[in-house]
Amino acid sequence: MTQYPHLLAPLDLGFTQIRNRVLMGSMHTGLEEWHEGMGRLAAFYAERARGGVGLMVTGGIGPSTVGAKMARDAVLTNSDQVQQHRLITEAVHENGGKVLMQILHTGRYSRQELCLAPSPIKSPITPYEPKEMSADDIEATIEDYATCASLAREAGYDGVEIMGSEGYLLNEFIVEHTNHRQDEWGGSYENRIRFPLDVLRRVRQRAGDDFILMYRQSMLDLVEDGSNWDEVVQLAKAVEAVGVNILNTGIGWHEAQIPTIAQMVPRAAWTWVTAKIREHVDIPVVTTNRINRPETAEEILARGDADMVSMARPLLADSHFVAKAAEGDAAGINTCIACNQACLDFIFTGQVCSCLVNPRACHETELLYQTTDNASRIAVVGSGPAGLSCATVAAGRGHNVTLYDAAPDIGGQLNLARQVPGKSEFNETIRYFKQQIERSGLELKLNHRVTAQELIESDYDQIILATGVTPRIPEFDGVDHPKVTNYVDILERRVTAGQTVAIIGAGGIGFDVAEFLVHDEQEEMEIGEFMAYWGVDMGLAQPGGLDTQTKIPEPDRDVYLLQRKASRHGSTLGKTTGWIHKSVLQQANVTMLADVTYERVDDEGLHVTVGGEPRTLEVDMVVICAGQEPMRELQDDLLAAGQNVHLIGGADVAAELDARRAIDQGARLAASL
Ligand code: FAD
Ligand code: NAP
Ligand code: SF4
Repeated sequence: MTQYPHLLAPLDLGFTQIRNRVLMGSMHTGLEEWHEGMGRLAAFYAERARGGVGLMVTGGIGPSTVGAKMARDAVLTNSDQVQQHRLITEAVHENGGKVLMQILHTGRYSRQELCLAPSPIKSPITPYEPKEMSADDIEATIEDYATCASLAREAGYDGVEIMGSEGYLLNEFIVEHTNHRQDEWGGSYENRIRFPLDVLRRVRQRAGDDFILMYRQSMLDLVEDGSNWDEVVQLAKAVEAVGVNILNTGIGWHEAQIPTIAQMVPRAAWTWVTAKIREHVDIPVVTTNRINRPETAEEILARGDADMVSMARPLLADSHFVAKAAEGDAAGINTCIACNQACLDFIFTGQVCSCLVNPRACHETELLYQTTDNASRIAVVGSGPAGLSCATVAAGRGHNVTLYDAAPDIGGQLNLARQVPGKSEFNETIRYFKQQIERSGLELKLNHRVTAQELIESDYDQIILATGVTPRIPEFDGVDHPKVTNYVDILERRVTAGQTVAIIGAGGIGFDVAEFLVHDEQEEMEIGEFMAYWGVDMGLAQPGGLDTQTKIPEPDRDVYLLQRKASRHGSTLGKTTGWIHKSVLQQANVTMLADVTYERVDDEGLHVTVGGEPRTLEVDMVVICAGQEPMRELQDDLLAAGQNVHLIGGADVAAELDARRAIDQGARLAASL
């Protein structure tokens, strides 16, 4: 008897069956535009089909060049392009899966000068004012969708998803926020939903009845002048009436100022919205966002919030999520921690998507963990993310690995990261690596600060130093004053901060320490608290779901966050999450000072100049978060003794180090040994 009867139950659509209730939500990987990327994409999807996913949706494919996000982005507009897509559909079908192609017209979110929209209103997150679509443009675009869908059918897809949410073209027609037209495509709600409904009708007509048609509807726009709930229900019913088979949930436009999938969003935070729409339609509905564990997905389905659960990033993190759940091995699942660091942040900076906890994601054809036929004795020193990744992959390949750490537990700095409010998902990464250690049979030696002598005497074939970093201590008068401490002591709670604190350094750790200090001892937010904090109207009485009231707890301390650079704070934070951290600190009245020179600390406080002006910050504590230096004290003695030494993670390069680079470097070294 499975623990996940609802999740693993097949879904019957009449003309076809889906083997379980897991939808792999659409993710643009960047491979769509890469040279020979479709072959790599086929391997990516095939691995997830083998891993048991019921139904997948590809990344968005444009129905026209003007509809693509960039001029060079993938479109499906003629039969010459069909063959490349067959690589994907055949690979998925050979492995027992089903796959839909998402048709995405980006509208005013396109980064092309000639982008189109219902009205000429520029979005706040893209550079160009769109051209207002003429009646001919509208007719041509509907036709483009239909052609694209019939080509998708020719390519062997099981259906298409029409993207109608997140503020893309169809969504732009639906809401007054972006549709100021006075003709039959604007004005009344009936007129504003005419365009998406016509698109769906024409697609159904052209692609046939035995073709899965899924519509992703914006259930909560989270922007001003968004749809109200009655309108959302009206559209869902109309979508059902035009022959859509599955209704998927979209939450929030890209320009919304409310986090919808970041790590600090509680798990399954938005399924209540899908549950409300499910009361009004008879077709299966899909829920989504921050669902990253099988038990969470099962609970959602068992409660009746939805008929299917969409997970996208969790299937980057573990391609065999579903198969492991089916085998009763949820403990073996590598959990997506919702960091966005290697997936969305990579995509938004023009890189191929991957995953912080699984560097093989989108690299399935080149990063291979093959069993070795030449087992070596390997020492890995340090069980931070770099050492954990290296040791477990090497042991998994059949090497004899001993993993040392001076600390009583594995995880290195992840044990500091997980203390920060909104970052408890790092517990999952530590949990997963513990499992991998047990399963791989490597020898773990904790509370063991290993010396060069011991390593040399143990006669290893390879020694991998993953010893991490030490905090950098800047030089200024009074740096040894009792008021001065560093982030390690604060986050390990060896030191308790006073009421007024200055933080030196506004990198990732400075921001994290500020969040820790303003919301001391805060538990992770419950769903209701989260919605109240960010101003989401759970009563669904307001347009777009935006509440006029927010409920923000009083900060526990007065905090200054300082940097020497004159630039704006937060420029080094993640592309898709930096704004959230900044917003949280602004809500907590953190004073951010740039262009700061540190003069001295004394009993009065921290003396600085800000933009050349002297100033005294009368603080009772100064916390140093000024970056780090590599810790590689064992290296010289080992090299002198002729040992094979490798450096990974912070021990290799401390600057701009993060867990993503550490895990990736560890895995790649282990794959090469
Ligand atoms: P470390 O994690 O520093 O691990 C080194 C290990 O080596 C330690 O466990 C240490 O005990 C052990 N060691 C050292 N010398 C010896 C010895 N002689 N014998 C035995 N053991 C030894 N990164 C992100 O990607 N995303 C985040 O959101 C994020 N948030 C962070 C928040 C905070 C507050 C902090 C402090 C860091 C954060 N990081 C984050 C950074 C990330 O944790 C580090 O980049 C990563 O841990 C570095 O990995 P590492 O394996 O190189 O070293
Ligand atoms: P960091 O991002 O490099 O920031 C260090 C800060 O200290 C900078 O603001 C720098 O800015 C300042 N600084 C550097 N040298 C200094 C000196 N000599 N005196 C005074 N100030 C100095 O490093 P970090 O904050 O320690 O973070 C370490 C790594 O962890 C980062 O690479 C980051 O990617 C990762 N991390 C990631 C996240 C995440 O959410 N993704 C969170 C935490 C940490 P000025 O030079 O302008 O003063
Ligand atoms: Fe999840 Fe982070 Fe991996 Fe993205 S990079 S899939 S958010 S764990």
